[in-house]
Amino acid sequence: MEKDTICVQGGYEPGNGDPRILPIIQSTTFKYSTSDEMGKLFDLEADGYFYTRLANPTNDYVAKKICELEGGVAAMLTSSGQAANFYAVFNICESGDHLVVSSAIYGGTFNLLVNSLAKMNISCTVVDPDCTEEELNAAFKENTKCVFGESIANPAVKILDFEKFAKAAHAHGVPLIVDNTFPTPINCNPFKFGADIVTHSTTKYMDGHATSVGGCIVDSGNFDWTKYPDKFPGLCKVDETYHGIVYTEKFGKAAYITKCTAQLMRDFGSIQSPQNAFYINFGLETLALRMERHVSNATKVAEWLSNCDKVKWVNYPGLKSDKYHALAEKYMPNGTCGVLTFGLGTREESARVMDRLKMIAIVTHVADTRTCVLHPASHTHRQMNDEQLREAGVLPDLIRLSVGIENVNDIIADLDQAING
Ligand SMILES: *Cc1c(COP(=O)(O)O)cnc(C)c1O
Repeated sequence: MEKDTICVQGGYEPGNGDPRILPIIQSTTFKYSTSDEMGKLFDLEADGYFYTRLANPTNDYVAKKICELEGGVAAMLTSSGQAANFYAVFNICESGDHLVVSSAIYGGTFNLLVNSLAKMNISCTVVDPDCTEEELNAAFKENTKCVFGESIANPAVKILDFEKFAKAAHAHGVPLIVDNTFPTPINCNPFKFGADIVTHSTTKYMDGHATSVGGCIVDSGNFDWTKYPDKFPGLCKVDETYHGIVYTEKFGKAAYITKCTAQLMRDFGSIQSPQNAFYINFGLETLALRMERHVSNATKVAEWLSNCDKVKWVNYPGLKSDKYHALAEKYMPNGTCGVLTFGLGTREESARVMDRLKMIAIVTHVADTRTCVLHPASHTHRQMNDEQLREAGVLPDLIRLSVGIENVNDIIADLDQAING
């Protein structure tokens, strides 16, 4: 099926007499007739639900739909995008290990990987996504376990050169993990270009209506863990907490997601609630339609801003003049996303224009139906001075504009009165 059909029909396929609409299985527990049947579930000997902290049918149907959209072999939902990125990485590394991380990633993920994982003795080498192959290769160490990047960086809107990153990761015997939140699987499938694991903050375009925080991890099934048993002992050697099973032997291509559910969900418990999974599924049904409109609106807004005298610069990979346009054309030929950044010269002027906006709201959110703005220098990065901001790759006058699906003339009219009025 085509992706827009999967959005509507994928995941849940009701049988005769079943509810037509994905049911919300709002139950923490599941009943069994014999003690032995339940025991087999605890040993991962049989397939089935027993406690919603590990798995729930509503969540699994939604994960299956996202898995189909990405072209993966297995997927799981998490309570947030943060949890998805933490689990995706922590599933294959432990104390003493090392990661190679692109510098152009979401601030929350940067903190997680660079600062919080350091407290677990997991270190990172941060690389510029535009570095040369030599520079990238030099970042790897004996104990490197994965490479992490974002397909379109939030908020830098830089495009990851998947093939360069996948080649370096695979040459060093480790997987490439890509956060594909901004383009969504509608506009980009990182597995086609060598990524091994994909993560999502479903909070953004997938939910799309700003109702439910959530995340997802999808495995391509392409990375052969068994080639490196000493590097990935958690997957290739016995798990004593499940009576000595070996995930790669017992679960084959589903080994990574099964281990992530059976160990990390069991122990850390960042499960999606079935009610929120239902809302995410609602969003997914119209994802293909909405992404098309987000892209066409953002392209028109970016062009309008580029022609506006008071606007000093605009970054949108959909613009022909953008530094990342060629990579966008290569990896996301149908368009990128609805997010762009622009600047008005100074921190004060950007803040002044934002205060004058009427319809477009100032919110700490991005990628939903309603157009919104954020000024990192005044909000998420407000503790930094101008010099520190530049080092972090965030210009003091940078406004992140998340273009929604309203009529584009109304979006431009609001920007016009705020900038030029
Ligand atoms: C928002 C975001 C996250 C974090 O997701 P939450 O659902 O807020 O936990 C991770 N990656 C990207 C690219 C994001 O935009």
